[in-house]
Amino acid sequence: MSDDNYTVNCDTHGESGGAFICQHLVNDSEKLGFYLGYDPERPDSLHPDAWCGECEVVLNREGEWNDVATAFADIKIVCGKCYENIRDKNWLEDAEIVNTLLADCREYLEKKQPKLVEQFKLDVHERWDWDQTTGKLIFSHDGEPQVVASVQFAGSFSTETNTWMWAWANESLDDNIKSGSKVVRDIGQQRGYRKLAAGHWPADVVDAWEMTAVLAKHIDAIGFYRTPSDNGFLYMAITDAVWVVRS
Ligand SMILES: [Zn+2]
Ligand SMILES: [Zn+2]
Repeated sequence: MSDDNYTVNCDTHGESGGAFICQHLVNDSEKLGFYLGYDPERPDSLHPDAWCGECEVVLNREGEWNDVATAFADIKIVCGKCYENIRDKNWLEDAEIVNTLLADCREYLEKKQPKLVEQFKLDVHERWDWDQTTGKLIFSHDGEPQVVASVQFAGSFSTETNTWMWAWANESLDDNIKSGSKVVRDIGQQRGYRKLAAGHWPADVVDAWEMTAVLAKHIDAIGFYRTPSDNGFLYMAITDAVWVVRS
């Protein structure tokens, strides 16, 4: 099943690619559980096939998507935005464990960031440029590079839609600068943490910073940087940096 091959005309959101969910995960459902069928051939899909907790029980009992499990789930197609709303209302996770993880990551980045800013004077350089191909963020002054940093992109925060999108879900970014975000995604998928596993969700700037902190901690970054984009900000974790200014 592939969301690119099906178009849905949603009464609320208009026409877009469809996503597949079980019959129980309808628009007004809540806290039913949200189990995902990750497709190894489409790891960057924003909307993997999903089913509820009861369907998961049936699936585990049957051992595979046989006739019984398939009939019970009676998969429906919805639009991508409806899918995300339904996902966020039905996803079940241990909030305490997730909050502890996020607090650890925030603490990690809060400790690292002041040192990075001070050592490389990140707040005083005239301009910055990033290069996807090399994975470098270059700070310069009077046309001369001063500091060259290696970066991994965390994702982007849109001030238009107030949403976060992980770098791995952003097709316009090169693979080499989003491998770190895939590490975070894997952790989210394995442990069932929504903010880490889901590619695109309603967020504020604190969420954006927090997700960058999660990436930073898991790839041993030395800090982060944020650059303005067309409709918000791009967040990246810095894994190393050097002064390159000529003496
Ligand atoms: Zn179900
Ligand atoms: Zn919709």
